[in-house]
Amino acid sequence: MNYDIVIIGSGVIGLSIAYELSHTEKKIIVIDKEKSFGHHISSRNSQVIHSGIYYPQNSKKAIHCVRGNKMIYDFCEQHGISYKNTGKIIIAQNDKELKKIEMLKENGEKNGLTNLKIYNKNDLLKLEPNLKAKYGLFIPSTGVFDAHQFMGKLEYLSSKKGVDFLYQYEVKNIDISNNTISTFFNNDEKITCNTLINAAGLWSDKIGNMINKDKYKLMYYKGDYYTASKCKNIFSHLIYPLPTDFSLGIHAVLDLEGNIGFGPNAYPVSEIDYANNDYHKKDFYDNIKKYVDIDFEDLNIDFSGIRPKISCKDGSFQDFIIDYGNNNIINLVGIESPGLTSSLSIAKEIKEKIIFGTGL
Ligand SMILES: Cc1cc2nc3c(=O)[nH]c(=O)nc-3n(C[C@H](O)[C@H](O)[C@H](O)COP(=O)(O)OP(=O)(O)OC[C@H]3O[C@@H](n4cnc5c(N)ncnc54)[C@H](O)[C@@H]3O)c2cc1C
Repeated sequence: MNYDIVIIGSGVIGLSIAYELSHTEKKIIVIDKEKSFGHHISSRNSQVIHSGIYYPQNSKKAIHCVRGNKMIYDFCEQHGISYKNTGKIIIAQNDKELKKIEMLKENGEKNGLTNLKIYNKNDLLKLEPNLKAKYGLFIPSTGVFDAHQFMGKLEYLSSKKGVDFLYQYEVKNIDISNNTISTFFNNDEKITCNTLINAAGLWSDKIGNMINKDKYKLMYYKGDYYTASKCKNIFSHLIYPLPTDFSLGIHAVLDLEGNIGFGPNAYPVSEIDYANNDYHKKDFYDNIKKYVDIDFEDLNIDFSGIRPKISCKDGSFQDFIIDYGNNNIINLVGIESPGLTSSLSIAKEIKEKIIFGTGL
């Protein structure tokens, strides 16, 4: 079988790219090793539509998150995907932390965010009576959405436009000869194409290294989520502490029904294993009780996700890698948060690059 474009991975990134490219004349196939779309990172996250406040100006994360935020809201509106523009508050517990939220505000404004506002304790209590914090930075453009419904719609719309989906096929090897790229599976079958897009999430380094040996290296950072049944409706905004080097902090997770949970923490793991346990519960609890009154017993382990982090020892900022390299192979590596929010914007960049040779 021969295609113009093969996309490896049917997470939110592969699906968004398929959807964007489905509006062109290209013959496209999406391949995934699982039995349907979205089995990995894209289904194990906070489902937050981020604003783009955290990332350095002009980084890919900043550009795609800010542009993607609006694109996701528009898509949800147009296609009936459930969402809620809740707004978000990043809290500060003392004057030292106040300086940090002031810096975040400044950074957000550089990235084009508007109507950011810092509240003192009294004003915060009017917004969130159950929140324990001295100051809070309010960000209006953050929200939550149903990421699974979103992915389902992307798959449906793409296949209606002629994109093929091949599930339960694991790419085992890639070969390039005479300008033709071949992807090989466990059996003798192969699929050839002119352009290959690697959107393999936690395995994107391995796929990328099939062509460029040892070029990419991911580290895995696991994050656990806990339910808190007695907390239903205690907050109406997403509540975040200050970010750490490896995550945005253990935040209050809102779903579209008003249920409140907490997560994710962040700790390194050596393999991709979603099995969850209570090992980190005490530390988790100590973090969230700083901003909410909650009983230890009310926290129950829910699910875990794993972040594909670009390997680096010091926790310094690492941008998304969107590597056009050569040989018509595009590698998307380290697409961690805010990857969901950025998905449609990243897909737009890739479409412009493939079709018009332009891009960001
Ligand atoms: C804990 C956590 C919380 C997050 N919260 C948010 C959030 O609130 N908002 C936000 O914007 N972002 C968030 N993110 C980031 C976001 O979820 C990811 O950036 C995004 O889902 C990545 O999607 P993906 O398509 O790259 O990866 P995936 O969804 O993992 O898709 C990759 C696919 O590739 C397939 N694949 C891999 N190898 C092969 C192979 N050899 N052959 C065939 N198929 C293969 C896999 O089966 C998989 O389906 C969070 C991430 C984590 C971990």
